[in-house]
Amino acid sequence: MPLTEAQREEYLAAKGVRCPFCKSYDIGSTTFRPQHMAHAEELITETIGCDTCGKRWVETYTLTAVDDHPDAWTEEDNEGS
Ligand SMILES: [Zn+2]
Repeated sequence: MPLTEAQREEYLAAKGVRCPFCKSYDIGSTTFRPQHMAHAEELITETIGCDTCGKRWVETYTLTAVDDHPDAWTEEDNEGS
């Protein structure tokens, strides 16, 4: 049975911490490969599985923010002195 619109909204509102089908917290990534997150032009998706009911679903990620890495400040200070 596919996800309903209500299940999608509830899942996103809860930040994806519970199974959208049986509400179990016993879920986890089944395909997570961090290096794929670097490819901004690809659609980043992630298969999540529930250990309680066995269903699987797919999350989609988008780039939402950018910020300085903490190391940037250290390098700048060293060059300036
Ligand atoms: Zn479940």
